[in-house]
Amino acid sequence: MGATGRRAVLRGAFGLVGAGVALLGAGACAAGTAVSAGPVDPPDPGPPDAAGALARLREGNARWQEVHPAHPHEGVEVRTALVGGQHPFATVLSCVDSRVPPELVFDQGLGDLLTVRTAGEVLDDAVRGSIEFGRGELAVPLVVVLGHSSCGAVAAAVDAVDRARTPPGHLAHLVAALRPALPSSGTRAERIAAGVDTHVRRTVAALRRDPDLAASGAGAAAVVGARYDLDTGRVDWLETL
Ligand SMILES: [Zn+2]
Repeated sequence: MGATGRRAVLRGAFGLVGAGVALLGAGACAAGTAVSAGPVDPPDPGPPDAAGALARLREGNARWQEVHPAHPHEGVEVRTALVGGQHPFATVLSCVDSRVPPELVFDQGLGDLLTVRTAGEVLDDAVRGSIEFGRGELAVPLVVVLGHSSCGAVAAAVDAVDRARTPPGHLAHLVAALRPALPSSGTRAERIAAGVDTHVRRTVAALRRDPDLAASGAGAAAVVGARYDLDTGRVDWLETL
């Protein structure tokens, strides 16, 4: 199916583009600032390419690290302007961890990021479909796979392997997905740290070679990988453009 046909299918499945991906869009805001009628701060139309998107994320994380976040695009004017449509400039696949909300660690606001979150940023069909939707329907130029230090999902996978025990329920799916990224030697902390980075790189590689993602837009989306440090707030880029 060509890109045009895929877009038509997506439109049929999701309806109006502007409102259809609210479930995927940015949701974080700083307490007390989201509903204030502050100065007009219209959302940017989106950078023209992946490099511009990556630069914007780097700048946002620098503000976050310095504890001088701008909290952009949170005013009621922005919320109103976005009702008619959205132009997010990056899709971020990250962990569900409550300490790593993409909109905060990259200091972005409403309409800026599509966010897809699973424990350990594990891929499945729903995740892949969500990323393809961003690429195909909204022309999002950049996909970021964001792991983080001290990831509990990776730690659970290390422990499951060490104990030769399959975790209950759907946790088994997460462990199976993370297991190939785990080193066989080292201390528990070392294996968790290495596993986080290797899993990010493996996930980036999987998305880069995903023919469906390439087919969902005009050529392959740029996919990069990074690790967020809980202590410093810093995002280090493991796989870049
Ligand atoms: Zn995690």
